[in-house]
Amino acid sequence: MISRIDLRGSLPGDLRSVLPRAELDVEAALEKVRPICADVRHRGSAAVREYTKAFDGVEPESLRVPVPVIHQSLAALDPAVRDALEECVRRARLVHRDQRRTDVTTQVVPGGTVTERWVPVGRVGLYVPGGQAVYPSSVVMNVVPAQEAGVGSLAVTSPPQKEFGGWPHPVILAACALLGVDEVHAVGGAQAIAMFAYGTDECRPADLVTGPGNVWVAAAKRQLRGVIGIDSEAGPTEIAILADATADPVHVAADLISQAEHDTLAAAVLVTDSEELASSVTKELETQVAATRHVERITAALGGRQSGVVLVDDLEAGLRVVDAYAAEHLEIQTAGAREVAARVRNAGAIFIGPHAPVSLGDYLAGSNHVLPTGGCACHSSGLSVQTFLRGVHVVEYDEAALAEATPRVVILAEAEDLPAHGAALKARFDWGVPR
Ligand code: NAD
Repeated sequence: MISRIDLRGSLPGDLRSVLPRAELDVEAALEKVRPICADVRHRGSAAVREYTKAFDGVEPESLRVPVPVIHQSLAALDPAVRDALEECVRRARLVHRDQRRTDVTTQVVPGGTVTERWVPVGRVGLYVPGGQAVYPSSVVMNVVPAQEAGVGSLAVTSPPQKEFGGWPHPVILAACALLGVDEVHAVGGAQAIAMFAYGTDECRPADLVTGPGNVWVAAAKRQLRGVIGIDSEAGPTEIAILADATADPVHVAADLISQAEHDTLAAAVLVTDSEELASSVTKELETQVAATRHVERITAALGGRQSGVVLVDDLEAGLRVVDAYAAEHLEIQTAGAREVAARVRNAGAIFIGPHAPVSLGDYLAGSNHVLPTGGCACHSSGLSVQTFLRGVHVVEYDEAALAEATPRVVILAEAEDLPAHGAALKARFDWGVPR
């Protein structure tokens, strides 16, 4: 069911072109998303309601979830789920609290300083997916770093669910209540991103939108970037596993399946120098998939062109492949896994050895699970406190420090044919300004 790509012999120069990758055509989705965004801009809530009816089959009385409904969801939550969510929050807080930054002042010259001040974003919109699967854990992964950064105003949105009265899934609402979030909107897809970008009579515009989503969400983020800040485009999930003959095929297969369970477009890639492991994992996949709850979705994901078993000559070649692939999640299941992991440059998150599967990171490792996909891990990071902060340079120079800098500023300004720049400094001394 999973295809095999044999790169033994020699690796092609353009490795990316031969590696399996989801055909997530964000550009094509933009054709449909552009008019949705324009419509929400001009008609606000009325447009959001129409798209909600068209795509989610729900005609809501209100797009904003009433606060009592949010609190009731927490009261009705299964105590075991509540306990697990609370531990998920506790561990995520530990990690994200340590990411907080302190302002740093650098003395550039005597009398001249630059301070980098970290200022939280004023208002954020947090997208929690809810199409094929629902993700209360994504509430935690969005909200905790925003709170730790000190964001003042925080709104969550998640698709309405027909079977739950048109509100988002009750466990999503319960997670919001647990985290003290009482602004929750029952809106999904591109219309949710446009709602945050432009604002409506039911939702104030936000400065930044974060969170994973499907192709419509990714396309809307790409379209509205600039009107609103965005995190990375976190699309269909990906797992790559770099493994050698020491890896356990049962674990490798189970981990590939765990991410294929998200979405028919999810990607599961094994990179190995062991023919024997490749064969036993392929066999193991067949046995394990048949016993899963979401057989169809998993079979489609593993059989799609985005998934595959990649055979390489040795670990060196394997490292080149995983760096070129830049997976959202990368597991290292080799001898000396920690040393191998230290040599990886491109991955959203790295999971070392047999006891750190990606599923642990999805919920309880303490790390963030909103991570860049589609190869974006070579230039972007996952969600963190940093996502919700802006670094503002604060410049302070006294008269002597400015006088000392002035001749060089004047020379550089002349070199750029911008003499008024130099004149602004000269005006402060007896050189005067040209009149
Ligand atoms: P979603 O909430 O992203 O999308 C559902 C919404 O899509 C619906 O509310 C609807 O409004 C809109 N929609 C559906 N069909 C449409 C159409 N034909 N035209 C326009 N809009 C349409 O939920 P999902 O679909 O389950 O996708 C969630 C994605 O998030 C999955 O791909 C999953 O792998 C991914 N994910 C990624 C991460 C990460 O960190 N990268 C984490 C969790 C989930």
